[in-house]
Amino acid sequence: MTDCIFCRIGSGEIPAKLAAKGDGVLAFYDLNPQAPVHLLVIPTRHLSGANAVTALDRIVWSQVMSLAIQVAREQGIADSGYRLVVNQGRDGGQSVEHLHVHVLGGRRMAWPPG
Ligand code: 5GP
Ligand code: ZN
Repeated sequence: MTDCIFCRIGSGEIPAKLAAKGDGVLAFYDLNPQAPVHLLVIPTRHLSGANAVTALDRIVWSQVMSLAIQVAREQGIADSGYRLVVNQGRDGGQSVEHLHVHVLGGRRMAWPPG
């Protein structure tokens, strides 16, 4: 999808500060960080969000989650703790319609979220 910003980051067409790469998955720093550590993990293949994930996508979904946990470890927040967030749709606060997992840490997260 050429009009999708995360597809374009995935293909290297738009620059992003990369943190890690896996098989069909990519981790990069969020442009507008909400915590001392804030990365995004995406599948390079376009999926519009959590609602678009089917049983056929279970391998890429597990690769996304594995990379999210890996980057948390690499960022040094595995022991202090972190939050993995997927925003879906309007009420979830999704602003980019390409599946992504936020990796947030380096400070105490509020619960419940606002
Ligand atoms: P959402 O609100 O959809 O869950 O999260 C989208 C996230 O993508 C936001 O945290 C926003 O800061 C980030 N973002 C939007 N555009 C870009 C971009 O071009 N580059 C990077 N690195 N992050 C982006
Ligand atoms: Zn996309």
